[in-house]
Amino acid sequence: MIINIPIHDLKKPPVLKFPERCAYCGRPKTEMLGITLNMGVQNRNQPVTLQLSVPMCKTCADKERGIAKVTLIPFLTAGLIIGVIVFIPVMLLAPEGTTPQTIGFPFVLGGFAGLVVGVIGGTMVEFVVKTLSVPFYGKLLTRRPLTIFGMFADTDELIGISAKLLREKKIVRLEFENEEIAREFIQLNSLEPK
Ligand SMILES: [Zn+2]
Repeated sequence: MIINIPIHDLKKPPVLKFPERCAYCGRPKTEMLGITLNMGVQNRNQPVTLQLSVPMCKTCADKERGIAKVTLIPFLTAGLIIGVIVFIPVMLLAPEGTTPQTIGFPFVLGGFAGLVVGVIGGTMVEFVVKTLSVPFYGKLLTRRPLTIFGMFADTDELIGISAKLLREKKIVRLEFENEEIAREFIQLNSLEPK
C-alpha cells in the first residue's frame, strides 16, 4: 500500500509513529531500525532530514542486515573480477608511450576500461542476484536502486518499507508491503490512504 504524507514545511518534517510491532511481518518487535530521508533543505546550515524509527522483529532485522549479500556484495565482487579480467589484456595490448608523459598510458587505459566494464558487469550481476532473491526478501527489494544508482537516489528502504521524498510536491511517499501495518500506520498518524 502506498501512503502519501504531505509535508507543509520541508524544514520541519513531521514525526511519524509506527505500530508497535514488526513493520514487515507483524510479529512482536525486538528492535528499531532507522530510515533517513534528506529533505534537500538546510536549517541553520544543517541539512534537514526526516528520521523514521521502524519497529522490526529479530528475523526481519537480520534479513535487512543481510540484504547487502544480494545487492552490494554481488556488485563489488562481480565488478572487481570483471574489472581485472578486462584490465589485464587491455593493459598488455595498449601501445606503450614513448615519452615520460605517456609511459603509463597502458596502465591508465587498462584501469579505465576495467572500471567501466566492471561497473556495468557488476550492476548486471547484481540485478540478476537481486531478482532471484525476491522470494526471500520481499517484492519491495526490486524498488531499491541498484548500488550504482543508489548513490544518487533520494530514497531509503528497509525490508517491507520504501520511503521516497517527492520534493516538488512536498510529499513523502511510504510504501508498505504489509497492508495491515499500513492501515494501522494511517490511523496512528491520522493520514488518508492514496
Ligand atoms: Zn518481522
